[in-house]
Amino acid sequence: MKKIIVANWKMHPRTEKEAVALARASDATSVVICPPFPFIPAVARVLKRAALGAQNAFPGTTGAKTGEVSAGELKSAGVRYVILGHSERRAEGERDAQIAKKITGATAEGLIPILCVGEPASVRAKGFTAAQAYVKKQLLADLSGLAQSSKLKAQNLLIAYEPVWAISTTKNHKDETPEDAARMAQFIKKLLVVSHKSKATVLYGGSVNAKNAASFLARPEFSGALVGGASLNPAEFKKVIKAGASL
Ligand code: PEP
Repeated sequence: MKKIIVANWKMHPRTEKEAVALARASDATSVVICPPFPFIPAVARVLKRAALGAQNAFPGTTGAKTGEVSAGELKSAGVRYVILGHSERRAEGERDAQIAKKITGATAEGLIPILCVGEPASVRAKGFTAAQAYVKKQLLADLSGLAQSSKLKAQNLLIAYEPVWAISTTKNHKDETPEDAARMAQFIKKLLVVSHKSKATVLYGGSVNAKNAASFLARPEFSGALVGGASLNPAEFKKVIKAGASL
């Protein structure tokens, strides 16, 4: 089955012209492109095969919330997916309680949340069990707004396992092994069955690039990848898409 490849452009590129060129070069089926907010309309106009995503969303549709962009506004701009709980936003102070509201708010508007969870280096240093406990706490808190009785449909929520220590291709990090990452994905899947009676769709997001994509995407536990730095280089991103398409 073709894997889902999500491009998280973060606060790149610099201009609408560059964003449109990058979108055209990355447009493929099973791809989700998440540009910065100002470039969403222009990217929406050129995408023919890829779906459109956003990198954050405030719950609701409209209101007196200066500087926020709502899930409803994004939906009306053609957005289908939204990344929530990314570690870079958590590092800026976003807490589980806010993420939980965003998850329910986005779901209520019909957006598909891509919830990011993952342990920092200090936790991983204590061992895999500590990392599992950390991820469990995040997941249960972030999904606490979704009624446990109402079955979460797997296609209505994606969970990106992003070990924080493995994120950002610019850092010199210790490589994550696909086996360890897959163990965490199995753990997340079991947890969601118990907590929300749901099958979880799990993506891997720890600096996936042209070289390592095939080894992570070959694991059946992963339905795809969330790609940061490598999604800004069309040639490299095409290789990641190809790795996900040939499985
Ligand atoms: C991310 O931050 O979501 C991410 C996957 O980044 P990178 O691929 O650059 O590590």
